[in-house]
Amino acid sequence: MSMQSVWHYEHHIHAIDAAYVRRQLAAVHLIVEHGRVAIVDTGSKDALKPTLSALAQLGLTADAVDYVILTHIHLDHAGGAGLMMQTFPQARLVVHPRGAAHMVDPTKLVAGVIQVYGEEAFRRLYGEILPIDERRIIKACDGLVLSLAGRELLCIDTPGHARHHLALVDSRSHSVFTGDIFGMSYRELDTDDRQFLFPTTSPVQFDPQAMHASIDRVMAFQPQRVYLTHFSQLVDVRRQADQLHRLVDAHVAIAEREKDAGDQRHQRLQTALAAMLLDEIHAFGCRLSRDAAWAVIASDVELNAQGLAVWLDSGH
Ligand SMILES: [Zn+2]
Repeated sequence: MSMQSVWHYEHHIHAIDAAYVRRQLAAVHLIVEHGRVAIVDTGSKDALKPTLSALAQLGLTADAVDYVILTHIHLDHAGGAGLMMQTFPQARLVVHPRGAAHMVDPTKLVAGVIQVYGEEAFRRLYGEILPIDERRIIKACDGLVLSLAGRELLCIDTPGHARHHLALVDSRSHSVFTGDIFGMSYRELDTDDRQFLFPTTSPVQFDPQAMHASIDRVMAFQPQRVYLTHFSQLVDVRRQADQLHRLVDAHVAIAEREKDAGDQRHQRLQTALAAMLLDEIHAFGCRLSRDAAWAVIASDVELNAQGLAVWLDSGH
């Protein structure tokens, strides 16, 4: 039996494994209404194939895609956008006004990522980032309502992870597609009936106050479900919001404690975050060993430590 790579939810919402780095790390979501499709986040270049096969499985062609919506332009969310826009001729790209120019001319975006990951890793993970014709781009200001065959999708400005981050409210399904603003939740850490959720504080625009406000903004819509890019459907949203607020504060407390650690700062941030999150995961009731849980969160802990350092350096 092959491993599941598409998940079908109520209200014609589907999640596709984006095949990014490892299984169930990043999702591409589809919202389908009367045969028309909105794609929420594109993953990297490697997500195109599984997305096309999911569409085919649903009896849909490339012409059915009306929107490619980016919650933000970090490349695990937007790296495949140019390729998808090339593949889906009817689609408009929906992106925050602050992110649009980087989709038209990705040169600076690419240079920034190469600086962090190096050229070789960049090519392997992301390949070539294709520019997108400006005339196909919708700049989604706060309050913009998209109509997907009559199904209203509301774009809301949700800074805190990135200043150019939006979330998408789907009132039909009482759900919000939250990109990275409502944290990450990996299925490997699930207990029988609960999902472990933790925030991303990754570089370079983490802003805890804005993140708290954006979590509250999402919750003001009283969603029954939220759909995370890392990784998909989250239930018990009310309780999860409390957990998220608490863990954002725990990240900030660690940053403030280590702020004067000098040369040791990154290592100390990393160690403290790892200990805090592994204790949380254990207390939560996860059955994985500490080592196995570490393997699931290690790369995010590294990024969260880097993002907290950037936040401290920006004057906190
Ligand atoms: Zn991101």
